[in-house]
Amino acid sequence: MKKFFNDLSSLQLFVRNIDLQRDHLHCEQCSSGDFFVAHDFIYKKQHNGLKKIVGQRLFCSNRYGRKGCGSTFRLYLATIVPTLRYTALNISLFLKSLLDNNSIQKAYNVATNRDDPRNAYRWLNKLYHSLSRYRVSIKRFTETAPQQMHRRKLLRILLSTIYDLFNTTEYYSCTHYQQIVQEGFI
Ligand SMILES: [Zn+2]
Repeated sequence: MKKFFNDLSSLQLFVRNIDLQRDHLHCEQCSSGDFFVAHDFIYKKQHNGLKKIVGQRLFCSNRYGRKGCGSTFRLYLATIVPTLRYTALNISLFLKSLLDNNSIQKAYNVATNRDDPRNAYRWLNKLYHSLSRYRVSIKRFTETAPQQMHRRKLLRILLSTIYDLFNTTEYYSCTHYQQIVQEGFI
């Protein structure tokens, strides 16, 4: 099922027309496409303290005579990273600044306008855990053999992978990755 949308209006259009799409939409839990109903919006507190709509839930309804399984699914805007308070743009800026050989602290400052880079190390840990997914994406576009991972430091491995991800594929930012791959960047 499509999970990331370019903007709120395309997400809302998708949800509004959910009944028309029952032939090719299937619940990940019960495989039925017949019982989806729109559920509540997902709000997220941004790093600036403001709350913003970032997505909407779909409900595989088991109420009022419907025979769904009761699961809910989250649909998101591709401009946000579901697991983070910062946006896909913040992460893209951070990574691009690291690729320009800036320090972690400087890159974090460029991306967020904040000085304390504690968060940056959290991001890096999450990014390290996503490395194999990025490599799968890169492999779809290139025949490049996997690099010698054991000799190189983790940050350098990450950055060369991110470089390849943004330069040898059609994913030139975190937002585009989420739009096309349909999974959270980290
Ligand atoms: Zn279901």
